[in-house]
Amino acid sequence: MSAKRDYYEVLGVGRDAGASDIKKAYRKCAMKYHPDRNPDDAEAEERFKEAAEAFEVLNDGEKRELYDRYGHEGPSRAGFSGFSGTDEVMSHFEDLFGGLFGFGQRRGGARRGGDMKVELRVSLSDAFEGGEHDVSISRPESCDSCDGSGAEPGSSPQTCPQCNGQGQVIHRQGFFTLQTTCPACRGQGKVISNPCGDCSGTGTVERESTLTINVPAGIDDGQTLRIQGRGLPGAGGGPPGNLYVIVRVTEDPRFIRDEFDIHSNVIVTMFQAAIGCDVEADTLEGRVDIEIEPGTQPGATIKLKGKGMPVLGRGRGRGDHIVHVEVRVPDDLSEEHLVALQRIAEERDEDVSKGSSGFFGFGKKRRRRG
Ligand SMILES: [Zn+2]
Ligand SMILES: [Zn+2]
Repeated sequence: MSAKRDYYEVLGVGRDAGASDIKKAYRKCAMKYHPDRNPDDAEAEERFKEAAEAFEVLNDGEKRELYDRYGHEGPSRAGFSGFSGTDEVMSHFEDLFGGLFGFGQRRGGARRGGDMKVELRVSLSDAFEGGEHDVSISRPESCDSCDGSGAEPGSSPQTCPQCNGQGQVIHRQGFFTLQTTCPACRGQGKVISNPCGDCSGTGTVERESTLTINVPAGIDDGQTLRIQGRGLPGAGGGPPGNLYVIVRVTEDPRFIRDEFDIHSNVIVTMFQAAIGCDVEADTLEGRVDIEIEPGTQPGATIKLKGKGMPVLGRGRGRGDHIVHVEVRVPDDLSEEHLVALQRIAEERDEDVSKGSSGFFGFGKKRRRRG
């Protein structure tokens, strides 16, 4: 969120609202925007988080006073930094009101699913343009045949006889009691005597799926995109983990990238460099004509301002494109041409029989002929 809204406005309460009004208003807000009721709705999720943050501040006497006095800056002085993610807000909400609302049961055995990583390879021009790309990921999903229970349809998991469904067993050794995960059910509290044939009793099947990822223009090699809730499924009603997409930008032999600038070469002959010419240079947007001035030196650079990569983040402009001029000397000149060059050199009073250290010919005083 760019600009934070007023906390009182977020909860729809007056500045003099009492603690119970604030709690009531938060509950109303949070239920309306709860992610379980608004799946895949980014705006609702943002409102849900916003309400939790507003409540956290207004429900705390000290933070509320700081907020009233200094605005959004205030509570952060007291070490308040808001919430980092939706999962955190969800468990915060449930700690406060309990799982009374029929939302996913996160109490007890609820566990957030693990995160996943996947690589996405894009070309430099894809990175320049940004846009949608498909990644295919293989991840375990709840088995349809047994509805994730792992038990053959028609049967159901039995309470584990070894731990009586506790998932933990207690060993006594003298004065000590040791509690360990039940080996029979591996802590699940249930055992499957008749496993589902489709998932071999695991409750999950590996499934290939394709996700469309929105790659921001200007992304660089190795940067990672976080796709919330697209990781491994959670257990016991817990939320899924996140998917991390590591973007690999394939090198383009025509270009070298340096942050948001692009460097490339153009090759001209020594005649073109001396006389001047127009050449075509490759840029991210295709070929453009650039002018080589008469007397251009090897290694000279021409800056095409704002023709580099987009700077990540909206409206931040673009880097530059820098064209490096490479000058080639012909090695296949005919005798006739060599004589012609010799003549030019003599006319310029250059002694071509002797090499020169330092600046060959440059800066030399021109002597008039005759
Ligand atoms: Zn057990
Ligand atoms: Zn199954």
